[in-house]
Amino acid sequence: MNSQKVAIITGAGRGIGAATALLFGRKGDAVCINYKSDVESASKLAETIIAAGGRCITVQADVSREDEVVRLFSTVDEVLGSVSVLVNNAGILKTQSRLEDMTAERINLILTQNVTSYFLCCREAVKRMSTRHGGVGGAIVNVSSGAARSGSPNEYIDYAASKGAVDTLTKGLSLEVASEGIRVNCVRPGLIHTDIHADGGEPERIQRLKNNIPVKRGGQAEEVAEAIYWLASEKSSYSTGTYLDVTGGL
Ligand code: NAP
Repeated sequence: MNSQKVAIITGAGRGIGAATALLFGRKGDAVCINYKSDVESASKLAETIIAAGGRCITVQADVSREDEVVRLFSTVDEVLGSVSVLVNNAGILKTQSRLEDMTAERINLILTQNVTSYFLCCREAVKRMSTRHGGVGGAIVNVSSGAARSGSPNEYIDYAASKGAVDTLTKGLSLEVASEGIRVNCVRPGLIHTDIHADGGEPERIQRLKNNIPVKRGGQAEEVAEAIYWLASEKSSYSTGTYLDVTGGL
């Protein structure tokens, strides 16, 4: 892999994705900030990276849609060059609920947004990175969640199950492409200060749960970004199919 990477980070306008994009930009890598609807946050972030001397573009695309994923990757091919790092980060959750109250519409939305999107982006990345297809290799980092282990009872089992699927995707794909120059790893954040908890209907969720966390605090997006960056870098060159928990001990 070249020392200057070309990194696609999905859902990078806000939260963990934005902290990750900033870190890649600061390290001198070319960055594609993907976002779904919040053009303002994505544009401001891109301006910050470019003002600091970085190379960066923003691409609006709903990564749960096949045609939009194909457009995202071909835009990066044209503008930044062939992708060497994919960070699958875009994800959603819905209002806290028990399973009895979940509709098929909600469950399917969570699975499409959190799982189909990761599969589609992995597919496009592998087509470009794999030595089997003439590529020079690369690294994929999937952002899962500690919820894959806890199951998130009484909050969002659908979300937790979608992250379980991300863990299994990571394991299977890592083995499928290990001999083709591609490493596939996973970061599993715990309770991180971002907007996502408000989407679950409880903006102060971390405040309520922080005493259950061994280190007694929520994490910052920047702390997750460091783990993602390490798994995308040559420093982790002998790690593939692994899960790095960034959970304060939870
Ligand atoms: P966030 O602050 O809510 O940001 C989510 C980002 O994903 C936004 O930039 C959003 O775009 C984007 N997005 C959502 N659906 C998308 C789609 N279909 N296509 C493209 N972009 C999409 O979330 P976060 O807390 O940073 O979460 C990032 C990842 O970490 C998620 O996978 C989440 O499950 C995981 N995670 C978070 C925590 C936590 O405590 N925060 C814990 C464990 C795991 P717009 O801005 O355009 O809407």
